[in-house]
Amino acid sequence: ATPTAVTVGIGRGAELGILIKKGETLEVSERISTVLFDKTGTLTEGEPYITDVVPLKGDENDVIGLAASIEANSRHPIARAIVSRAEDIPSIKVHELKSIPGKGLIGFTNSQRILVGNISLFKDNRIPLDHIKDMISKLQGEGKTIVLVGMDQEPVGIIAVSDKIKENSPRAMKALGEMGLETVMVTGDNPITAKIVAEKLGIGRVLSQVLPEDKVNIVAKMREKGGVAFVGDGINDAPALAAADVGIAIGSGTDIAMEAADIVLVKDDPVDVPAAMQLARKVVSRVK
Ligand code: ADP
Ligand code: MG
Repeated sequence: ATPTAVTVGIGRGAELGILIKKGETLEVSERISTVLFDKTGTLTEGEPYITDVVPLKGDENDVIGLAASIEANSRHPIARAIVSRAEDIPSIKVHELKSIPGKGLIGFTNSQRILVGNISLFKDNRIPLDHIKDMISKLQGEGKTIVLVGMDQEPVGIIAVSDKIKENSPRAMKALGEMGLETVMVTGDNPITAKIVAEKLGIGRVLSQVLPEDKVNIVAKMREKGGVAFVGDGINDAPALAAADVGIAIGSGTDIAMEAADIVLVKDDPVDVPAAMQLARKVVSRVK
């Protein structure tokens, strides 16, 4: 592209709320064939809310109170939803808290071990879930994310959370598809919930149960086959944003994600991803 076309392109992007840090990004963007998306906070609002509380021991408040005592130590969006529900419930003292990325948390009260997290966390700790598997499947089938609460070797409750899909996410997937680009969603969520969300989005492919540190490996693998853009918002998206040919950060995301990215979407709107790709095509075609 000519320097003038690039300058005009960057200026046009800025007007649209698509901040392009350097000129070469436009040329690299034109050669992208796959766009990977983080799910939570990127394609969804990133503000999950509690839809169901199923006590297996005690009542709802016991389950929420116990979960919140642990989650008070986490900044995960799921943690925020649980803690805000527990405002009027006294918390329990926990110590030796351990965060397990992509899975949940484990802490100890004076006499018990408390676990809050997904099915993998419970499987890793050999906690039997056979007797509640129908209930879990039912909730997952509704597109909800399951948070299990366990005490010692036993589940004591199930909390289901749901996160709204951003209004323009399906439109963005459609536009990218029409441009001939493959769309892929990458998420730490379980396969059933992820598949239901993906169907609503109309996204091409889903990679679920991805641990935070594996996002960067997925980007590297996909780059063997062509240009890859990664769109994300979180701290743990930063390595993938940096490793992609084009890293695209959501403006309301974390500073670290925005620093690692080549493009920042000020309006937090997924539809600005195809808009950025269109802009790149226009700028590059202007010289050929
Ligand atoms: P994502 O951004 O796709 O949700 P994460 O890696 O943040 O991916 O989390 C993956 C999964 O791990 C979540 O869907 C949830 O089931 C579980 N998890 C992670 N952190 C927590 C937490 N603090 N409380 C409960 N569950 C958690
Ligand atoms: Mg995210």
